Amino acid sequence: MSRILPSQHTLIWRTVLLNILLTLVYLSTAKLGLLFAFVQGNATLIWMPTGISLASVLLGGYALLPGVALGAFLTVATTAVPLWVAFAVSVGNTLEAFLGAFLLRHVAQFDISLQRLRDVWNLFLWAALLSTVASATIGVGSLCAAGAVSWTQFSQVWLIWWLGNVMGNLLVAPLLLVWSRSPCWRLSQLLEFVMMLVTTCAVTIIAFGGWIPPTHVEPYPLVFVVFPLLIWAALRFEQYGTTAANFVLAGFSVWMTVSGSGPFAPFGLQGSIELLWVFMAVTTLPALLLAASVSERRHAEEALQHAYSQIYQIINNAPGVAIQGYDSEGRVLFWNKASEDLYGFTEQQAVGKRLGQFLLSEQDAKEFEQMVQRIVQTGQPAPLREWETKTASGAPRHIISSLFPVRIERDKVQVVCMDVDITERKRLEAELLRAQRLDSIGRLAGGIAHDFNNLLTAIMSYAEIALTRLPEGHPAAEDIQRVLDAADRASELVKHLLAFARRQTLTPQVIDLNHLLHNVMPLLNRLLGKQVELRVHTDPALKKVKADPTQIEQTILNLAINARDAMPNGGVLTIETANVTLDTTAVQAVPDMSPGEYVMLSVSDTGTGISPEHIEHLFEPFFTTKGDQGTGLGLAVVYGVVKQSGGHITVESEPGRGTTFRIYLPSVPPDTTA
Ligand code: ADP
Ligand code: MG
Repeated sequence: MSRILPSQHTLIWRTVLLNILLTLVYLSTAKLGLLFAFVQGNATLIWMPTGISLASVLLGGYALLPGVALGAFLTVATTAVPLWVAFAVSVGNTLEAFLGAFLLRHVAQFDISLQRLRDVWNLFLWAALLSTVASATIGVGSLCAAGAVSWTQFSQVWLIWWLGNVMGNLLVAPLLLVWSRSPCWRLSQLLEFVMMLVTTCAVTIIAFGGWIPPTHVEPYPLVFVVFPLLIWAALRFEQYGTTAANFVLAGFSVWMTVSGSGPFAPFGLQGSIELLWVFMAVTTLPALLLAASVSERRHAEEALQHAYSQIYQIINNAPGVAIQGYDSEGRVLFWNKASEDLYGFTEQQAVGKRLGQFLLSEQDAKEFEQMVQRIVQTGQPAPLREWETKTASGAPRHIISSLFPVRIERDKVQVVCMDVDITERKRLEAELLRAQRLDSIGRLAGGIAHDFNNLLTAIMSYAEIALTRLPEGHPAAEDIQRVLDAADRASELVKHLLAFARRQTLTPQVIDLNHLLHNVMPLLNRLLGKQVELRVHTDPALKKVKADPTQIEQTILNLAINARDAMPNGGVLTIETANVTLDTTAVQAVPDMSPGEYVMLSVSDTGTGISPEHIEHLFEPFFTTKGDQGTGLGLAVVYGVVKQSGGHITVESEPGRGTTFRIYLPSVPPDTTA
């Protein structure tokens, strides 16, 4: 409480002081106004206190109404009329200020900066035209009732009173409201403003001063020369300029006309009042409206500029979506950050160029430009289209792009292109398709092999029985032996097929791959011959895996033999082991693989490599490029064994450079024994 009370006190004191100040200002401007009053009545063409009151209440709130009341009371009380008339006039003027402020605030949602056309209209309608009726009616009515003015003159005096107050609210109130916030101008603007104001003063004085030319009997009608000055004020300084110029213009024109000079003076009291008022009406209001429309237009442009720059920021920083703009000929207009990241070409390198010059093949670029032209002509977006291209570093990319028109001016269209990199998705799709295909081939081959194996067992056992029943040296014995040999080879084939189909019986053990490698080294060296150098890098801390050692040996041998076949003129075969931990992103590249701890065994060669079309079919049974020399079962068996052991196999190959197969087997915890 103790902290709130002083501030309440200061607030009250402030209000009291402001009220006193307002009373004094009211009184002095009223007296000053009366000095310029037209002879008859107390009427002046611009009743400044009205504008001061309205502006004060709009700026400082209804708490300033007492100041208005007291000011109005003292103004009249110091003249010859009875006190009750002063009281009535005070009521009328206070009501006027209250009504004006109330209507503007609550009916018109008025903004004191007058930067919108509607605010100018509302000021004119509610404050200038309407609220002033109250004070004119009550004021003149009470003057008549007191006998200070005769009832026959009521309408004439009422009109002058009312018009004075109208001009007060149209000239003085805007001046105070607008200038209650100081403008932030540069020095040059300030100088121009002063120049504009001085010119307006001079021109008004010339037009109303009756200075030129003395040879003419009638005053020279020069009042229209003020219009360019009002336009200057509105265009360059908006409300600040207009309110100031309006005030200067009205002030001087009234003063000069009252003192008997200028083009309106010769028309007598009534005539000059009418002409002057019409003159002020056609300058003040249009000037305020002009300034407001200049402001509105400026605001609209600023908002547009703001929106543009926001959109530009968003486009430029949109992550992952490469966005470019193209002109109707397909030349790059803009190139956002994501485009730089995706293609490796900077904005400077891209802007102004055709895509054929750096990104697309000539054929694709032509098609792209045709698409752009069609979009510009029809105004319709193009259907999604996939492109294959290479980045600045030569990496192949698969892109899906959407092209659509953006109208930037009435008849100017740009084409915007949004690209999404689907290289990885494409690769995964192919990978998945391959895995699925291998799976279904496996199921088919496995089913056949299984049944065939049973038949073979029957064939072989009957053939053996037949062989034992034949007497020694029987000529058919040799034929049956051939049957048995063929059945043996058939059974070998079936075994491979079953291995591929993951249907062979495995006897998994916890094994150390380094140890196993060590055991097959002599055999490997013999198989590879002198032409091929064998390098083995083993991880000494290698974890153990659970697998069938015979089958893993077979796997290594199959891979090594293929590597040897791929290096007919010699080369290097590298076998490596390592512990690897694969996280979620790492396993995304391989279908079915889950994150975790693996032991990796890689077999790389420096041979011919494998073409992309062949990689597609690599693990399929009977796929071979070796004609009669190959069976096409080596990799099929490898695949089946690895899969059946819960592992994964990947292949990476660059034609002419060599091939790397990597086998990942889940590692087992260190203390596992069986
Ligand atoms: P085969 O060796 O009987 O042809 P595989 O299943 O072992 O059958 O291999 C299938 C095919 O894969 C081979 O014919 C060969 O074209 C290709 N291939 C396998 N390994 C390699 C390698 N290391 N380098 C080049 N091509 C390979
Ligand atoms: Mg092979």
